[in-house]
Amino acid sequence: MGAISLYARPSAGFADKLEASKALLVSAARQYAPITQASSLGAEDMVVSHLIADTGIAASIFVLDTRMLHAETLALVGRLEARYGLTVDVYQPDPVVAANFVTEFGDDAMYKSLALRKACCDFRKMVPLERALAGQRAWITGLRREQSNARADVHDIEHQQLHIDGRAVDRAKVNPLADWTWGDVWHFISIHNIPYNPLHDEFFPSIGCAPCTRAVTLGEDFRSGRWWWEQESAKECGLHVAADGSHEAEEPAAFEPLSSNLGGPAANRASANVIPIKEIPA
Ligand code: SF4
Repeated sequence: MGAISLYARPSAGFADKLEASKALLVSAARQYAPITQASSLGAEDMVVSHLIADTGIAASIFVLDTRMLHAETLALVGRLEARYGLTVDVYQPDPVVAANFVTEFGDDAMYKSLALRKACCDFRKMVPLERALAGQRAWITGLRREQSNARADVHDIEHQQLHIDGRAVDRAKVNPLADWTWGDVWHFISIHNIPYNPLHDEFFPSIGCAPCTRAVTLGEDFRSGRWWWEQESAKECGLHVAADGSHEAEEPAAFEPLSSNLGGPAANRASANVIPIKEIPA
């Protein structure tokens, strides 16, 4: 049984959510050009890319190829380009930095300490992210409030005040799927035949680098397969982690978040994070 069979169930009011997501993208593209999508090539991001193509907004799409991704993930770049007739910008880490890191600390450095794991995320993700976002006024993500407690207060649009080369820069972060459910995502993938990572059919709901991602099992929550050996509070790669550590704000450490301006924190959604693994046959 694949991911579509397991999960594709639209929530009440899905049609309204979809229209709101499209309207948000159109509005953001007008207000914040140039704008770009940061795609992890996960299910949500494939939906966002489809919405970008569907609405026809002028948004580029980029991927951070950490050089540690599954082959199935990387193959999606070509599938995305072929499906929508676009070019995905791929950013990789500095090969010299990567080689030196592996020589000094080993291929398995991420398991040795939290500091080494975060150092790996820094040069493989954070530094390339800074390059990808240079000159952009906004970036689009596939964050959903339901994904984890850390993301429970994600807003449709968030503003970040950055300090780059001594200049104050405002950058918006646009989250068009903020109130979508996992069932909404898979319903949309199903009805539009959107390409997706086959690892989702192997019980990988959240997919990152190969050494740091595993399948989830009965009753585990959505992101339990990411950095599974770490304490829950440490499980951040930095891309969406606020400088005060309060919630995911996957910005480089030098970034300083502005206070969010749209509503208060959402309720604890621990129960909503659990994917319906019970429906997976033994
Ligand atoms: S997720 Fe793992 S392999 Fe990928 S950059 Fe972070 S520590 Fe390195």
